[in-house]
Amino acid sequence: MSIRLHAFTCGWLTGSLGNFLAGERGRIRVPVPCFLVVHPRGTALFDTGLHAGMQRDPAERLGSLAPSWKVEFAPGEEVAGRLGEVDLAPARVDFIVLSHLHFDHAGGIAQIPNARLVVQEAEWQAGRDPDLVRANFYDPRDYDLGHEILVARGEHDLFGDGSVLCLPTPGHTPGHQSLRVRLPKAEIILTADACYLRRTLDQLELPAFAHDREQMRASLLRLRALEKAGARLFFGHDPEQWGSMPQAPRAIL
Ligand SMILES: [Zn+2]
Repeated sequence: MSIRLHAFTCGWLTGSLGNFLAGERGRIRVPVPCFLVVHPRGTALFDTGLHAGMQRDPAERLGSLAPSWKVEFAPGEEVAGRLGEVDLAPARVDFIVLSHLHFDHAGGIAQIPNARLVVQEAEWQAGRDPDLVRANFYDPRDYDLGHEILVARGEHDLFGDGSVLCLPTPGHTPGHQSLRVRLPKAEIILTADACYLRRTLDQLELPAFAHDREQMRASLLRLRALEKAGARLFFGHDPEQWGSMPQAPRAIL
């Protein structure tokens, strides 16, 4: 059996375009992606989308962020529902690789009971520091649920064969990471919020929010170099690119 990659849409968010590209006006509607890697040695989600509670009461989960986001999130679109489309029980997911701890990436952890969380050390430490929790708009209810934690310090080879590699891309948050997946026909990099949109990369336009702008710029330059070397980048919240993404149960490539 070879490695497979699936894309799931776990809701949509509409907010100010300036949140994605500083200084821009208007609004943008963006997908909330998560991905599943099926590898002969195990299964791994890359991010988990929104918390299922947002289907009933988004404001309760969003708190101070509620005025910033309109949430579209129907029953069945939560990560557990999406896993059903590929006949995988949530309890059988081995790993959740977390790009970072924001609500639209960590919200679905609660539905995946037995997975080990794979998170960069700087991110996990920030998620347990009250000042950094506030500064980064984290919600510990999303991730502080007693899962076993695999703390990564730099690049981490998930299955030991180089096919699924955590790549630190800090700046958006203290310990943000992207994921490189080597498929038979292509090398894919799931950038998550290290790069929201194609425009972010092409124009080096940073979003309004970034934990460390210099670090984020350096991570973008690294992603640019990887793309130039032949990798295909899947951006964190790009509605145009997402429109052409094969959705589960189809696999990518
Ligand atoms: Zn984020």
